Amino acid sequence: MKLIFEKSVPGRGMDYLPQCDVEAVALPAGLVRDVAPRLPELSETDISRHYTELNKNVHGVNCGFYPLGSCTMKYNPRIDEEMAALPGFTGVHPLAPAHTTAGCREVLDTARTLLCEITGMDDMTFQPAAGAHGEFTGVLLIKQYHEARGDSKRNKIIVPDSAHGTNPATAAMCGYTIVNIPSAPNGCVDLEALKKVLGEDTAGLMLTNPNTVGIFDENILEITRLVHEAGGLCYYDGANLNAVMGVVRPGDMGFDCIHLNLHKTFATPHGGGGPGSGAVGCKARLAAYLPGSAMMDGAGHIQVRSFAGNFLVVVKAMTYILSLGREGIPEAAQNAVLNANYLQAKIKGTFEPAFDRICMHEFVLDLSRFKKETGVSALDVAKTLIDYGMHPPTMYFPLIVHEALMLEPTETESRDTLDWAAEVFRKLYDLAHEDPAYMHDSPHNAQIGRPDEVRAARNPVLRWKG
Ligand SMILES: *Cc1c(COP(=O)(O)O)cnc(C)c1O
Repeated sequence: MKLIFEKSVPGRGMDYLPQCDVEAVALPAGLVRDVAPRLPELSETDISRHYTELNKNVHGVNCGFYPLGSCTMKYNPRIDEEMAALPGFTGVHPLAPAHTTAGCREVLDTARTLLCEITGMDDMTFQPAAGAHGEFTGVLLIKQYHEARGDSKRNKIIVPDSAHGTNPATAAMCGYTIVNIPSAPNGCVDLEALKKVLGEDTAGLMLTNPNTVGIFDENILEITRLVHEAGGLCYYDGANLNAVMGVVRPGDMGFDCIHLNLHKTFATPHGGGGPGSGAVGCKARLAAYLPGSAMMDGAGHIQVRSFAGNFLVVVKAMTYILSLGREGIPEAAQNAVLNANYLQAKIKGTFEPAFDRICMHEFVLDLSRFKKETGVSALDVAKTLIDYGMHPPTMYFPLIVHEALMLEPTETESRDTLDWAAEVFRKLYDLAHEDPAYMHDSPHNAQIGRPDEVRAARNPVLRWKG
């Protein structure tokens, strides 16, 4: 489709500005630009159609099934958006005097209390803007803790090989050496491998539970005990909390600090890159190192972001928790787990689960044998799903499974949708055996088929040059 600049017609436009009710003042010459900005000239109809056309080319959670594993792409109730749109929240200035922002501070306090209860932590900051930023903040807490005790030889962070890429990246950014440990055949932490690398140089362990293959690590208490025994601290990547919220708490599993992706688990839609919130919670012994919020107390804590973070995302999280309530939060987690197991069971028999057991909120398919038989890869299957109106699952992650497709249906999908999704997978399984060439060329009906993702990432063209 054409860019909005290419649709521009000189002289076309619309004039909706109200009559000026103050005296017009000429700007000083130094502030006036020499040439008029090159803005597209379009009527309101043109603009409306342009954006509607763009909208039709995007697959969001409001268009159809979106089982992107590890991302929790669930439908979020409209009430959360309505609360975040209240003028009292959107109109507040971060430097407004404290006596005028009592309501906003109450939101932060309430959300902190609720999320600390859900996670089993003692304190929390909302400054980090997303999960990876939260990890960075959390690992800095661990670092400050060791430094404050004069324990300067701890320079290693342990990360399992199934970890999300942000975990080792975070540890490296905080100046740590990363120690990778292999997973056991069941996808969980290999206790013997863990014991071997623990020592006086261990600063901490970063883990997500349930892990990235959708399995709850039954040895979690033993794992955190071993790390503590060696003098290290335990960091919980909370991206998978949707599976266990209200059922078990990271704090009770022995974790010392965590981040939550409020935009995954607690009601902020996050397609297209934002806004998010990587709230960081911690146990009391780390609380002194939490970033302070200028709006909250103005104290001289470290800051990882301005003011109180993405405040409106916190409004949504609070609304979500209060509207689901004490029964609704665990029910959402249980339904997420039920839906994942239902879909896994229905797909089994065609595509093979990488770990053939009861899963948590997501599961991984291993297409290596299927690829050997048909020549059709996980990428081909993912691309063909687009033609069927389904967003592709996460591909080629975690790295410990080859030809991986990772599906997370979430609790907000009905049984009908899951039945339909299983049927689509069955069709693609048959199609791969009958007409593999067709799948190598998929998608056939999308605007863009197979972009060169490496080149797009390395040399992004973000600006129109006309
Ligand atoms: C999404 C995710 C992250 C990173 O969170 P962002 O908000 O995308 O920065 C970290 N770990 C896991 C397991 C995730 O799924």
